[in-house]
Amino acid sequence: MLSRDTIRQLSRIVGRRHCRTDPEDLICYGYDATDLRYNPEAVVFPADVQEIVAIVRLANEIPFYLIPRGAGSGMSGGSLPVRGGVVLGLSRMNRILSIDPENMVAVVEPGVVTGHLQEELAEQGLFYPPDPASLAFCTIGGNVAECAGGARALKYGVTKDYVIGLEAVLASGELVKTGVQTAKGVVGYDLTKLLVGSEGTLAIITKVVLKLLPQPESRRMLMAVFNRLNEAVEAVTKIIGAGLLPSALEFMDQRSIQCVEDYLQIGLPRDAGALLLIEVDGVREGVVRHAEEIRTLCLGQGARQVEVAANEEEAETLWQARRAVSPALFKLNPHKVSEDIAVPRSRIPDIVAKLEEIGQRFRLIILCFGHAGDGNVHVNIMIDRNDADEVARTEQAVNEIFQATLALGGTLSGEHGIGITKIPYLGMEIDKLGLEAMRRIKKAFDPRGILNPGKIFLDSD
Ligand SMILES: Cc1cc2nc3c(=O)[nH]c(=O)nc-3n(C[C@H](O)[C@H](O)[C@H](O)COP(=O)(O)OP(=O)(O)OC[C@H]3O[C@@H](n4cnc5c(N)ncnc54)[C@H](O)[C@@H]3O)c2cc1C
Repeated sequence: MLSRDTIRQLSRIVGRRHCRTDPEDLICYGYDATDLRYNPEAVVFPADVQEIVAIVRLANEIPFYLIPRGAGSGMSGGSLPVRGGVVLGLSRMNRILSIDPENMVAVVEPGVVTGHLQEELAEQGLFYPPDPASLAFCTIGGNVAECAGGARALKYGVTKDYVIGLEAVLASGELVKTGVQTAKGVVGYDLTKLLVGSEGTLAIITKVVLKLLPQPESRRMLMAVFNRLNEAVEAVTKIIGAGLLPSALEFMDQRSIQCVEDYLQIGLPRDAGALLLIEVDGVREGVVRHAEEIRTLCLGQGARQVEVAANEEEAETLWQARRAVSPALFKLNPHKVSEDIAVPRSRIPDIVAKLEEIGQRFRLIILCFGHAGDGNVHVNIMIDRNDADEVARTEQAVNEIFQATLALGGTLSGEHGIGITKIPYLGMEIDKLGLEAMRRIKKAFDPRGILNPGKIFLDSD
């Protein structure tokens, strides 16, 4: 429990307006995109790195826990104050500090919204590819801490492939700089890569140096409609097997299509078994040719219709459909258990068949959509948490889904991280030695367990 004096000291650091303790305010910072709730004892919004250093020093002195938070859009509970403490809201640190077109590098504060950065860069002909479906509201700091992926990961990779340097405040209150501002750099251990994906448990990221690419000259978006899901996933394997590398290759199953159509009413085919949304980019002539080849391949693979978006507006409508899947599903049931398993691409048909079988056996509504090109399947079990029997069946089903995923050579999370929701399953994928090495890293960075306790490991602090 924070004392009045501690709150006074926090207010002195960030200013009264930026230190919140009102219970109604706290509710807003005790949630994320899971349906879990843990209210913090206070929320502070530092304006700069000096204020963060002062807060972390105070956290050591008192002591209290600190939980970094971007937009709170995480899917695994990473920003939730499970053991109380102070949420460190980074939304005020939202400046794009520099864009250097010659060296193709941008330096940004952690609270910059990913979509805003992309828009700003596009105006200068530059491209930052990682594009989580939450890009309209999630932050670069949260993306770095989760190593967020997105639809374009198939061709361009994920957040870690673009973070070349960081500034971060350690749990001791010391400021560390990692990485480089150059295209290459191999001096010492790669602390940048270690901090990317560390879910706010090792350091507070205060500045991010990002590698950029030129904007592709041209893009084309296709929607392929299939009667059966397995035809669609077979088409994915065929497209990539043919040496074509779309910038995005997303799929939606029938229930996802129906939910999105009910939500947006944009004319998606409600009776389709599955959709593929395929984007190709690059030089204009290549894009036209590849789009045509993909169209032919999909038709040969059983697609009943393949539409090519006539212009950017139509392409954006299709992207909106894909980004709306997650919120649209709530029409089916009030709660969602959301997993983001990944399997080797060629095993997607196997995992999809297994999901169907598990759904039937446990009498659960299981939908899947996601990044088919990466083998990253978003598995959503729509439930009512007030139904204890359904909750118990869901737990069993999730366990079986993870077992099946690992048996196919997959991983428990392609992009959403462990947070709190996947803690019980970590040991299924990482062996004892690996877990021990991770715990030692946590101890080396945060010996007193100040930063984001209760995440990733069961006994991290
Ligand atoms: C509709 C929807 C669609 C989504 N689609 C995708 C998708 O396609 N791909 C994907 O990868 N994810 C997706 N997500 C999940 C989520 O948006 C990402 O994990 C995103 O990276 C979280 O960013 P955030 O700013 O909301 O971070 P938060 O949720 O606030 O925090 C996430 C984690 O980062 C830590 N953190 C935040 N800022 C910092 C910092 N400055 N320093 C240290 N740690 C920090 C927090 O402690 C927490 O552990 C989606 C979520 C929603 C709701």
